[in-house]
Amino acid sequence: MPRRRDVGTGPVVHRTARVGLRLTRHQQHRCFGLLRSAGDVWACVLEVNAWHRRRGDKPVAGYQELCRLLAASGPGIFGELDTTGARSVLRRYSDAWFSAAARRKAGHAEVRYPRRRRGLMPIRWYHGTFTLTGRRLRLPVARGGDPLWVRLDRLVPYPPETVRSVTLLVDAGRLWIDVTAELPITTYPPGTGPDPARVAGVDLGIIHPYGAAHPADGSALLVSGRAIRAEHRLHLTDTRHRRRATATHTPAKGRRGSRRWRKIRRRARLVEGRHRRRTRQALHEATKMLIGWAVSKRIGTLTVGDPRGVLDISAGRRHNLRLRQWQIGRTLAMLQDKAALAGIRVHLVDERGTSSTCPACHQKISKPRGRRMVCPHCAFTGHRDIAAAFTIATRTPGGATTPHPPACTGVVTHRRAGRHLPGARPARRDPRRRPLAASGSLGRRRPAPPPPVMGSRSFTIVTEDPQPHRTQTGQRSWTPH
Ligand SMILES: [Zn+2]
Repeated sequence: MPRRRDVGTGPVVHRTARVGLRLTRHQQHRCFGLLRSAGDVWACVLEVNAWHRRRGDKPVAGYQELCRLLAASGPGIFGELDTTGARSVLRRYSDAWFSAAARRKAGHAEVRYPRRRRGLMPIRWYHGTFTLTGRRLRLPVARGGDPLWVRLDRLVPYPPETVRSVTLLVDAGRLWIDVTAELPITTYPPGTGPDPARVAGVDLGIIHPYGAAHPADGSALLVSGRAIRAEHRLHLTDTRHRRRATATHTPAKGRRGSRRWRKIRRRARLVEGRHRRRTRQALHEATKMLIGWAVSKRIGTLTVGDPRGVLDISAGRRHNLRLRQWQIGRTLAMLQDKAALAGIRVHLVDERGTSSTCPACHQKISKPRGRRMVCPHCAFTGHRDIAAAFTIATRTPGGATTPHPPACTGVVTHRRAGRHLPGARPARRDPRRRPLAASGSLGRRRPAPPPPVMGSRSFTIVTEDPQPHRTQTGQRSWTPH
């Protein structure tokens, strides 16, 4: 239901943060009870529509129709779940149904209507039905029940008055609250905000998630993602070892697994979830660095080379996996979200050929094999990703080019994403070789502390990352695409 906002307020964006919960056993029991009741609501809707289908009737998919059905079923049917929470499940069903219908109509015959039962369904409560004070949150329950207060494990990162809804959900076996806030787009004092005429090019990549260049003053930003890649590799190795060690416990087809097997599965899910959260956090940090750099340079337009064309080409088993782990859609979505909040426009342009074009003289040159691009025509040398970003900056969706060739002589700012990741410590890159004292649980990993104010800087002529090359035999080689 669209909510009417006050007239005269500026444009807003919606942002969601996932916050963990600190619960007593009893609270945990009640939260799972709510989610299970929501799963019952979902199952009921599926059941009702299965009857309709068998009779050849029209399915019940409209939100209001579903709400009437719920009201007819009477109160107290779904345990502690209140009407608002139950309706949020109906809303989820209705949205899923109509989006499936729309996509099927558009020719995607493989899209399925929601028909799968789920034991636990997320529940959403909108503004005014819950109470959020500091780290304490009261979730509404059915009338007559004891109030359900839960404790968040960190403060919500948005001003309290902007919070619009909370969602209770389970991810990787743990309970979470998704807090959604309606944030006004950042406003700047006159003359200090991003200027749409100031354009920077952004090159997305695997080793460097972001390489950005601002041709007007020749400055550039290079965000290193080596820690993210190390995390991916360690995760893959660990997964392989774990699978090998536990393969004998796999139940036969159609058989229920042993208690031991379920323990193994639970552990695997936990590790998967942690890996996902870690990489996502690191990508968020990288994106924040890019937006911070753009705001400090008053860049109002980011021209981003869209590499999604490369995902359609099969590049072999190993490289395909790397490309999928890159999570390009997610990276682009994060970039667009954070740019919108900062008041920066994002244009997507074709990035073909940018890594084989000299940014200074615009001549075609052979694609560099390492990180360093050397032009034989004009003696330009520079980092390959930054050179690509300079070329991307000259491309616009309208087809215009920049009036003067980029200077490529400014200051390059270096940043590292994922400094909190276990592989990112400068002393020991392998978390499995931690000293014994630290081998127990370290608790939840916290995001990295804010980077030093200036970061490390260098002039554009960057030859290589400050990382040693692995050229010894027996070590896996990495071929940048
Ligand atoms: Zn050149």
